[in-house]
Amino acid sequence: MPLQNYINGKFVPAVSGETRPFHNPADNSTIGEAAESSAEDAQRAILAARKAFDEGPWPQTPAGARAEKLFKLADLIESRAEEFAAMDTRNNGKPLREARFDAADTAGCFRYYAGLATKPHGQTFEVGDPNIVCQTVREPVGVCGQIIPWNYPLLMAAWKLAPGLAAGNCCILKPSELTPLSASVLFELIDEVGFPPGAVQMVYGAGDPVGSHLAESPLVDKIAFTGGGTTGRKVMVAAASNFKKISLELGGKSPNIMFADTDPALALEFAMFGIFAGQGEVCSAGSRLLLERPLAAELLPRLAQACEKIVVGPGLEEDSEMGPLISRAHQKKVLDYIQAGCVEGAELLCGGGAYNDRRAAGNFVQPTVFINTRPEMQIVREEIFGPVLAVQIFDTEEEAIRLANDTEYGLAGAVFTRDGARAQRVIRRLRAGITWINTYHPTFNEAPWGGYKRSGIGIELGTYGYEAYTEVKQINTCLNPQSPGWFKGIG
Ligand code: NAD
Repeated sequence: MPLQNYINGKFVPAVSGETRPFHNPADNSTIGEAAESSAEDAQRAILAARKAFDEGPWPQTPAGARAEKLFKLADLIESRAEEFAAMDTRNNGKPLREARFDAADTAGCFRYYAGLATKPHGQTFEVGDPNIVCQTVREPVGVCGQIIPWNYPLLMAAWKLAPGLAAGNCCILKPSELTPLSASVLFELIDEVGFPPGAVQMVYGAGDPVGSHLAESPLVDKIAFTGGGTTGRKVMVAAASNFKKISLELGGKSPNIMFADTDPALALEFAMFGIFAGQGEVCSAGSRLLLERPLAAELLPRLAQACEKIVVGPGLEEDSEMGPLISRAHQKKVLDYIQAGCVEGAELLCGGGAYNDRRAAGNFVQPTVFINTRPEMQIVREEIFGPVLAVQIFDTEEEAIRLANDTEYGLAGAVFTRDGARAQRVIRRLRAGITWINTYHPTFNEAPWGGYKRSGIGIELGTYGYEAYTEVKQINTCLNPQSPGWFKGIG
């Protein structure tokens, strides 16, 4: 049976009855169908969420009771982690070991926000009038539309739903039309836990009309979007209609900076892990490798050899280290970028194409490294979102910082050096929101995630991510009510 929407506490097909097939990127076989919703389906979810928020009981449910449901959901996810991992691997392509990590992280995300729901959130303020107690409370924003991409189908759902629900909002999730699979089981578990109808819903379908309807609707109070910048701009414009609260988590072209004192073995592993984890379909990928010249001489020949050894294959095969890209169209886009890099005069150190063997049926692209790049090249400036690394060489700390910041993006970045003071100097001058010193990629539910510049607006995860799903209300209580004596003719 085609995967169904979850609206007002029930699994339902699209009003039109239409469906859309989805595929396994390792061989492009069709593995199922999901409801192809219209604006009408989105509207039904919005009306149910509006009622659930305005009439309750979810926003009024005590934090402890909300937390209990999210803890239970986390336990259920954990108990089916292996199944979730296999689903994301089949539908997204990523190797099983990565999908397993995502499943564990998803349970952790629900658990973290379940815990946070019951922690103190308000403040009191010392104000100029001794008769006034001035305090703040945090309240849910309302109906939240949550639009997610295909690269972390399950985990992105958790990043949106967990803080939203913990704070008492009524959430409507719109998964990517390319990766609907794991969300269907997540909502089976949500149904099993038993949230009030309309408190948490899901609508499958295309960005336009489903996502765009959520972004435009005057009945939606907040829109949380993760995806590409072009779509992000449309969402922001649509959301301006009723001044929705927005958060946008967009793309990146992040620098992985390595000074010459870095242990070459460590440098090699993290250069590769930074870009080839998740086939490079990771917003925070270290897609630009900035090497201090003496390290480049030693590292690059080893990098070429090591890339040839990466086991590229179907994610469901346990020894696969890198899987296929999400779709034929995306594979073509990545190969076109590689072509553009060659035309612009960059030199291929390794990779550069698809595969002619059994992998030809899937969307595989070889781990690819470009050297002899120039800062103005497309492959250095634009987010490719695939396994393509652009190497840039620098001679001084100042030059490293200049090259690193020479981008419209500002999502992530790393610096590798044994000089602790230099690491701090460089990382502090990096115009990016998520940074690492002597490592790449570790991401924690407990710590804020968000980009500078064109990489987005707002922050997810951590306490910041919870606050982003709340409004702040100021409450002033007078301890000694008296006539203000303002209008002389009264009394
Ligand atoms: P995308 O922008 O094409 O789609 C993202 C989501 O938006 C999908 O659910 C899609 O259906 C929906 N959408 C499309 N058009 C819409 C519209 N007009 N109105 C509302 N919603 C619409 O992105 P993608 O190709 O799925 O994902 C890749 C992009 O996501 C990359 O740029 C990547 O960097 C970014 N990303 C960012 C983060 C982060 O945390 N910053 C994380 C993951 C992915």
